[in-house]
Amino acid sequence: MIETQDTVILGSGCSGLTAAIYTGRAGLKPLVLEGHEPGGQLSITTLVENFPGWPEGIQGPELIENMKKQAAKFGATFQLAHLVAVDLSQRPIKLKTTAGEIHTRTLIIASGASARWLGLPSEQALIGHGVSSCATCDGFFFRGKPIAVVGGGDSAMEEALFLTRFASKVTLLHRRDAFRASKIMLERALAHPNIELRANTVVDEVLGVEEKEVKGLKLRDVKSGETCTLDVDGLFLGIGHKPNAKMFAGQLDTDEEGYIRTSNNVFTTHNGVVVPGVFASGDVQDRRYRQAITAAGTGCMAALEVEKYLEEHGR
Ligand code: NAP
Repeated sequence: MIETQDTVILGSGCSGLTAAIYTGRAGLKPLVLEGHEPGGQLSITTLVENFPGWPEGIQGPELIENMKKQAAKFGATFQLAHLVAVDLSQRPIKLKTTAGEIHTRTLIIASGASARWLGLPSEQALIGHGVSSCATCDGFFFRGKPIAVVGGGDSAMEEALFLTRFASKVTLLHRRDAFRASKIMLERALAHPNIELRANTVVDEVLGVEEKEVKGLKLRDVKSGETCTLDVDGLFLGIGHKPNAKMFAGQLDTDEEGYIRTSNNVFTTHNGVVVPGVFASGDVQDRRYRQAITAAGTGCMAALEVEKYLEEHGR
């Protein structure tokens, strides 16, 4: 007989851990499935300067570790597992996970978003061999070497700046000449002596597939159509993220980019009707703000709705 949990939280990023702190404090003993990327995006970032309460900033992994400790203090438990399949039409909800079957009265989906790739066959072939989407994880391998970063948002600026600690030179490649990055991040990146910007430029191919290491990039100027080769040893993608909501296809409403649609911030729906006891928080349902603090905010809301749901429907 499988014991039924009061609440299971999918994901251990900022949103899932905030939900765990709140549901833990409410005595619900939340079970957190840590997912494919334990700690979420904050665990692979560097200095977080805009999370309130840290005037000097705080390192992302430290912030996440603190949240995890705080959740554990209130009785949250953690399992290094991820969801394989789920049927949201039954109660209790039955989750098939890599750690076995789990039954729960309520579910908080805080599975976040994962890095986007360009989708080039040569890029895919060289992931882990010079192609990366995580500067903090892999930057160290490029000490004294030239590398390139793709993207025009805050992630790309942050990666480029971080990589200057290791790389001899960072070439920032952006497909347009207007940027989504915030002014402060863009100015910092462009002012750095080791960062060179190439706007209106796309990567057509990553060279080195046969050698199994990045040997350079084939670039194209989108305005003139001219192509050239850039001599780099590494390629970092900073082109945004896609929501981790695939396993709910057909069971929850999503938008055209795959983000879970929510009503009143955290209520999930199917064909426009609220799905009882199933809530979504954080980046998996937020294509607009995608900030640590908004992820935490919706994690809190989802937790409060779980409490309310269990009060109304019984534990
Ligand atoms: P983003 O703002 O959506 O930027 C993605 C960038 O990648 C855009 O410049 C986009 O180009 C480019 N791109 C997307 N697909 C591409 C493709 N196939 N080929 C080439 N380029 C492509 O994503 P983000 O930078 O990850 O930021 C997401 C959110 O997190 C933002 O709200 C940001 O402020 C926040 N964030 C904040 C910080 C910080 O404050 N320290 C750090 C990181 C992220 P186009 O512009 O042409 O579409």
